[in-house]
This record gives sequence, structure tokens and C-alpha cells, in this order.
Amino acid sequence: MKTLKDWINWAEEKGVAIGHFNVSDSEGFRAVVDSATELGVPVIIGVSEKERGFLGVAEIRALVSVSQEKGLPVFLNADHTYSVDASKEAVDNKFDEVIIDGAEKPFFENVAMTKEVVNYAREHHPGMLVEGELGFIGSGSMLRDEIPDGVSEETQTTVEDAKKFVDETCVDLFAPSVGNIHGLIKAGEPELNIKRIKEIADAVKIPLVLHGASGNTDKEVGEAIDAGIRIVHINTELRQAYKKGIEKGMSTDELAPYKFMADGVEEMKKLVTAKLKVFNKMDA
Ligand SMILES: [Zn+2]
Repeated sequence: MKTLKDWINWAEEKGVAIGHFNVSDSEGFRAVVDSATELGVPVIIGVSEKERGFLGVAEIRALVSVSQEKGLPVFLNADHTYSVDASKEAVDNKFDEVIIDGAEKPFFENVAMTKEVVNYAREHHPGMLVEGELGFIGSGSMLRDEIPDGVSEETQTTVEDAKKFVDETCVDLFAPSVGNIHGLIKAGEPELNIKRIKEIADAVKIPLVLHGASGNTDKEVGEAIDAGIRIVHINTELRQAYKKGIEKGMSTDELAPYKFMADGVEEMKKLVTAKLKVFNKMDA
């Protein structure tokens, strides 16, 4: 069976990106997997440390394994993992990818912890991809009144730092700060720095990951993919869709969870399908 690395190479050749969607439960999982399967495209299930805590690390691994045993190109990422220990847990549970997030730490500390995770993964689960991050883009997939503190044009990742970080850590994937922000800014998102994405992609020569793409326009995300983005993360918009669907389901006297939750799954499917079409450059 093709690995996540194989699919990223496939995306590179086709000039498309793989969708990464965060889930907190089996309903989210169902919506993401069904949408990708119906379109016939690969997909990554993301679980942050808190989402993993809610779902169970081994439990989400088992769910994704069921899809993989069916031959579906569904992969599991330990999203935003802030400690080396939690990253090691993801390696030990045979996740397909882990993101060690030291973006808020000083450069040398970020490099050191990222390197430690890369080495541990290479030894204990060869083939697993490790993603590093440089440049803070805010934390938490939420609605925001304004751009979070510590995020500005000046704090965007420079080409020089990106190259140094990737060379020193030997990560497989790199997430820069290029105008992207976690969460949704109510007044509208800042623009993505497409030029910087292209320059970083040319310099580091490994696939780039765009975090916090909720709220960015389809056109902008398409340009980012053309510039070298190979994985696009969506969380906040998916959470909004889920909540909207459940609220509809809960507004009746229905008692069966598989009935009132089904509206949540449907709303998420609509959103995931629309995003996957953009990322995979399929006709709308
Ligand atoms: Zn992220």
C-alpha cells in the first residue's frame, strides 16, 4: 500500500495538495473519510494533543487502521505536539506523521527538540514523517476578534531561517508562518505571502504545509499550492460546520444520537468535499 510519503510525491507531481482535517470524534472521522473516499483522493486525519485526549490515542489509531486495511489512502497525523514525550507517544502508536511544534520557543530550542523527535521516529517507526514549524501563527482553532499577539508580517518565517532549520533538523515536512493564522479572524483574514511560500519552497526543497487555512479564499489557497504547499490544514471551518449541523439536529425532539448527530456529519461532509475539490484542483 502507498505510504503518506508516496502520496505527497504524487501531490508534488500533480501540483495539488492533500487535505488535512482535524477531528475530535468518530462523527468527524466518518465525515472526512467518506468525503475523501467519494472523491477518490487521499486525506489526512489530524488530532491535536487535546483532540487526542478526547478521542484516545490508541482509539483514533485503530479507526484509521480500519480505513487503511480497506485500502483507503487515509493517514493519521499527531497535529501540534508541544512536547518531545507526546511526540514519542505518537511514534510508539505508529501514527503516519507527527508535528513537533516548537514554534513559540527560541530557534535553538525548537531545533533541538525537533531533532530529538526526528531521531526517535527514524529509529522506532521508520517511514513516519516528522513535520517541524518555524514562526508563530497563534494557537487554537477558534473565532478571533483580531490577529493574535506575536503574529505580524515581521514575524513571518524568513527564507534563511527556514533553510537553516530544515538543514539542521532533517524534517520531512515544514510549516512556515506566511500570513496564515490559526483560527478565523472575524473581520477577515490577512493575505497569504505567496512570494515567500515560493522562495521557502525553492530553498528548503521539501514539501511545505499550510496551517490555519480556514478563512483563506479558494483562489489564495490555489496560489499557495502552486507555490509549493502540499498539505493544507482546515479545522475552524470544520468545527463551525459541525456545530451548525448538530444545532439543526438538536432542534427537534429526536432522541437517537445517530439521527441528531447525522446533521453534523452532513454539514461537515459538505465542507470537506468543497475543500478537497479546491486542494485537488477538481472542477467544482
Ligand atoms: Zn496548525
